[in-house]
Amino acid sequence: MSGSVPGGDSSATPNLTPILDMVFQLITFFMLVINFKAAELDLSLQLPVLMSAKPLPAGAGKLKILVLNVQVAVKCPHPGCDALATLVRKLDDNRKLVGYELRCEKGHVEPASATAVANGRTCVSVYGHLLCKERRDKELPSISEYLSSEADLSLLAAQLTRDQVIHEGIPLPDIVVIRADSTCRFGAVNYVITEAQKQGYRKFALRTAHNDKVQAPN
Ligand SMILES: [Zn+2]
Repeated sequence: MSGSVPGGDSSATPNLTPILDMVFQLITFFMLVINFKAAELDLSLQLPVLMSAKPLPAGAGKLKILVLNVQVAVKCPHPGCDALATLVRKLDDNRKLVGYELRCEKGHVEPASATAVANGRTCVSVYGHLLCKERRDKELPSISEYLSSEADLSLLAAQLTRDQVIHEGIPLPDIVVIRADSTCRFGAVNYVITEAQKQGYRKFALRTAHNDKVQAPN
């Protein structure tokens, strides 16, 4: 007799092709849309408008671009919170400034004045963390320690030694892009540039906003 009985000898193999197709498509999709570079950029910054702003020099794409978001931070005013907070502009739908607020690392938002961070600590925000002049805890290095580790990578890429850079004055080829909010004090920007220079970086670009995108602060 021919023909098979359900549950008999014939083994049923599930067809995996559609599910594998879908998994590969999902992997491809996420690989295409993920953007690691964007994580370095804190888009909440309001960049100052500068007439002398220029695009990066030709060939800059081949070099590492170290983006430093300079911020001034104070202790979060939220009761019982020990995180650091930075000043954020509140804009209405027409991108007009309507006020300021302090936003902390843990997500607290408190109304504030434009001078709320005047005496705050100089910080650099890296991947959502604020690094200060002094080491904050075991996980968060100081600004100079962070720049030193970045300089190590730049040295490796440029096949230079630290001695050549620090003592012989050979500059690191990589470009340091400084981004700072227009409310950020100059001293903080200057400190970060000086620390980067100590590590051998000589090429700096100050990132500013285009005239047509952001209204100049009044
Ligand atoms: Zn807080």
